[in-house]
Amino acid sequence: MISLLPPIEQDPLWKLTARFQADPRPEKLDFVLGVYKDEHAQTPVMNVVHEAELTLARQRASKAYRSLSGHIVFNEAITRLLLGTNATRLDDTATLQTIGGTGALRLLGEMIARADSTAVLWSTDPGYVNHKPIFARSGLVVRPYRWHPHAGTAGSVDMSCVLADLEAAKAGDVVLLHGCCHNPTGLDLDLKGWQSIAELCARKQLIPLVDMAYQGFADGLEEDAAGLRLLTSNLDTVLVAASCSKNMGLYCERTGAALVVTPDPADKALVIATLQDIARANYSMPADHGAAIAALVMENHDAWNTELSAMRHRLINLRSQLADCLDALGAPSTLRKIRHHKGMFSMLFFTPQQMERLRCEFAIYGTDSSRINIAGLSSNVIEYTARSLIAAA
Ligand code: PMP
Repeated sequence: MISLLPPIEQDPLWKLTARFQADPRPEKLDFVLGVYKDEHAQTPVMNVVHEAELTLARQRASKAYRSLSGHIVFNEAITRLLLGTNATRLDDTATLQTIGGTGALRLLGEMIARADSTAVLWSTDPGYVNHKPIFARSGLVVRPYRWHPHAGTAGSVDMSCVLADLEAAKAGDVVLLHGCCHNPTGLDLDLKGWQSIAELCARKQLIPLVDMAYQGFADGLEEDAAGLRLLTSNLDTVLVAASCSKNMGLYCERTGAALVVTPDPADKALVIATLQDIARANYSMPADHGAAIAALVMENHDAWNTELSAMRHRLINLRSQLADCLDALGAPSTLRKIRHHKGMFSMLFFTPQQMERLRCEFAIYGTDSSRINIAGLSSNVIEYTARSLIAAA
């Protein structure tokens, strides 16, 4: 049986990471994986998370099974975090704790396919590498819409392309949007852009699915939810996949949530039963620990927000230092647009050959799609990085 399995290509990002680790050059820089790093190149355990873990250890709560929807207090808190503490749609929202943001995307994908097997999932091009596999394996047809047409306009999203491509969508199709910090480009919608998406969805009866994997990494916890909240204020049905991996640093605890905002209470009950049914036949229930931590972290909001803001400002500071240096060295205009990108990532708009040159000549590792993780920088390598990028451009 096993010999009949089709071969699998090794994941390109993990392959690059292995290559980076084997590289003996001391000046090597890792911009590949999408995790936050501090000035010591470590992915820290946040203080609020550590405190929550100590509290949980002291509480010694029973390990008996939790509910089919996961951690109920977590579900309520993350719903308020996403939609707003006093949002009018809170009661319209079905929330299920999931195995990270990935688990939320997959559950929602399977729910969409179960409801309407002809629904097409429209995903940004370029997009997050795992979006297509997740939704294709949920049973959906995945089609791209252009997030930007070419390098020359890389300072902002090209709404004319977005709207033109989504004109081909039919009623019932789902539009996947990145809530903030678009992965891989760092190009986010402004409120006018979100308004256009809301109008398009209303006019064509499309359903938005907002992937919120970096809330708090662009402009702030509240600010980064503004686009999502605009959609929930304007549209009956909105789907959300949320992740606590980045903004709480809970990566390996696999903590996230799937939300479905829908006005009819009977629909809401059906959604909860459906999501539970899909999860039940898969992994039954999500692990509790990450959600229990996250619930305490959200309760300790101010302390969490302070730590998260420090992480965000470190990224903003590194980004502007790099942009200043690129300006001072007379870099091509595409590279200088890095200044306007949001969150952890920027796209260089380099070819795979240029990215390989960066690795071979300068020991700088980004992805073949030319995504770099700004968190991989530190002040002492800004100039080296800027000079290397210009040389490879
Ligand atoms: N969506 C996007 C856009 C992401 O970048 C990521 C993580 N890299 C995820 C979802 C998945 O998040 P998680 O690790 O919580 O499953």
